[in-house]
Amino acid sequence: MLVQAKEILAKRFGFDDFRSGQEEVIKQLLASQNTLAIMPTGGGKSLCYQIPALLFEGLTIVVSPLISLMKDQVDALHLAGIEATYINSTLSAQEVNKRLHLAKSGHLKMLYIAPERLDTEGFHDLLECAEISLFAIDEAHCISQWGHDFRPSYLALCDYLRQMERQPLVIALTATATEAVANDICELLRILEKNIVKTGFARENLAFQIIKGQDKDQFLLHYLKENDSESGIIYASTRKEVERLQVLLEKQGIAVGKYHGGLSDQERSASQEQFSYDDLQVIVATNAFGMGINKSNVRFVIHYNLPRNMEAYYQEAGRAGRDGLPSDCILLFSPQDAHIQQFLIDQSELPEERKQNEYHKLRQMVGYGYTEICLERYIVNYFGEEANHCGRCSNCLDTRETVDITTDAQKVFSCIKRMGERFGKILIAKVLTGSNDQKVKTWHFDKLSTYGLMKERSQKDVLQLLDYLAAEKYLQVVNGSLPSLSLTNQAVKVLKNEAIVLRKKAVEATRVAMDVDVALFEMLRNKRRELASEYRVPPYIIFSDETLREMCRYKPQTNEEMLMIKGIGAAKLEKYGKDFMLLLQEEVISKSGG
Ligand code: ADP
Repeated sequence: MLVQAKEILAKRFGFDDFRSGQEEVIKQLLASQNTLAIMPTGGGKSLCYQIPALLFEGLTIVVSPLISLMKDQVDALHLAGIEATYINSTLSAQEVNKRLHLAKSGHLKMLYIAPERLDTEGFHDLLECAEISLFAIDEAHCISQWGHDFRPSYLALCDYLRQMERQPLVIALTATATEAVANDICELLRILEKNIVKTGFARENLAFQIIKGQDKDQFLLHYLKENDSESGIIYASTRKEVERLQVLLEKQGIAVGKYHGGLSDQERSASQEQFSYDDLQVIVATNAFGMGINKSNVRFVIHYNLPRNMEAYYQEAGRAGRDGLPSDCILLFSPQDAHIQQFLIDQSELPEERKQNEYHKLRQMVGYGYTEICLERYIVNYFGEEANHCGRCSNCLDTRETVDITTDAQKVFSCIKRMGERFGKILIAKVLTGSNDQKVKTWHFDKLSTYGLMKERSQKDVLQLLDYLAAEKYLQVVNGSLPSLSLTNQAVKVLKNEAIVLRKKAVEATRVAMDVDVALFEMLRNKRRELASEYRVPPYIIFSDETLREMCRYKPQTNEEMLMIKGIGAAKLEKYGKDFMLLLQEEVISKSGG
């Protein structure tokens, strides 16, 4: 059977080799072993159940939490010539019945459903009379209360499966599972520990970066300008911030959409669709966005604010580069953001034990912002693995010049001390730059010896310096009704001339790595877009960015050569091959001077 699995991989999906973990998972399923696959986002989890689904006689049911993801997957399967459909709340009762009927009649290989579906009568009926070969449970961490996205409907699903008369074969899949979560999944779905397949968490195409103590808006605008033809997601922690950033970017002429819980379902799905179809270059979103996003050509994910824990961060950042091409994951770090997250946990109605768990996770997230070790290593260690230096992240690559800023830092620290360590950064910056602000006068700060010590500098400049000193732990944010800055022991040492302060030069935004002829790539990308609107599917479903880049590299001229390109199987070749081959043939002729 494994030979057949490889054949399907090549013929239907156009790939020569299995990725790490895929073969092992498929082997276990073919031997009727319930399996848990823990593989990073973009690791290729879908094929782990899609290939067995095609090899098994009966129907494979795929449980997935988000509607848009189902549609995407089903569209992609259709393009590969595979019979599949989905059932969810967007369909009329009539359509649902039609699809259930189709499933019962044995004409389908795969049926995608939301977990809530299992609780409906029509579905029980299907489960009783159809031959179910496999149950694939995607985003399986939703089963565990220790995970970061627990869903009661998933727990109900486990109960249901356990009560079924004929126990179906089960595969659970997730990208993020700590040990506690993996144990829960195994127990609830009766998976033996030896049947956990876990591949490395590291993803070699992602370059992690942390930007701290810098003006976030300025960095963002600069980055988007440098990467104006690439697609990306910007995460912010509140709806208000999403709105503000969307307006800011739109004013710069960027094709930007927004996505958050305050928008109507219609507005949200319109944004998501436009983004998928490459009609929007970037989308600014809260963490409400993404579980269902399957778009493979996301070249960067920027976190404008600190996420609440490493699991959430890695999952969100991991939406970059699912196609395996170099992509950036950037965190714009400021220590103040931790207080927003802390506040959200304070306000939540979680039981005390879970709150403590959340605080602990938040501290590890903040630690990521401060760490000096390789960022990928920090992440991988968090998930319980060892790793070497990645050589791609901002810590590994940091060769910026350092400048001694001890005198400036002393001015700042001394001013904060004289102000009583009770005020926020804006008032501190006003005092240092000698502002005539009423509040400065009310508190008689214009009488301090540090008043106007930095009057030759702009307030913005001083604010950035304060952010930098906070990010480097010289200042700590104290949370009262308004956050204020106070000195840490490290700052006291600097004031006493026992330590110096160094600052690295600001990071310049750069382009995501690109290793092929950009003009040809653009041409192929335009063709893909044209076809996408003709066939009404998102462009990345036609061909991934990786497939386009391989075309740029090898310029296939015949059907046989096209089939050797990663991601091109017989069905796709027949449908789109000719359009792309024509462009590539013209390219070769024009380059040879013909
Ligand atoms: P996950 O669900 O783990 O996030 P997907 O199943 O969506 O990942 O796969 C991510 C991308 O990798 C898809 O574009 C898919 O076509 C591609 N892919 C999967 N398996 C292979 C393989 N063996 N060789 C090359 N590309 C693959």
